Amino acid sequence: MKVQIDKEKCTGCSVCESLCPDIFEMEDDIAKVKNPNSGDIECAKEAAESCPGEAITVEE
Ligand code: SF4
Repeated sequence: MKVQIDKEKCTGCSVCESLCPDIFEMEDDIAKVKNPNSGDIECAKEAAESCPGEAITVEE
């Protein structure tokens, strides 16, 4: 899978990090993808749906 975050849209809410700490981490109040090519895709999708800024895209 491939996970990307649009930094322009990220509000820094840290919901993604709370849901999938193995995939996302916060850095300077912006979410960052720790490892864009591995991890639980279902979790990444859930984070994308929960993201208030719709900043997360997940590709299989
Ligand atoms: S859930 Fe979305 S807005 Fe919130 S920190 Fe993660 S990428 Fe940013």
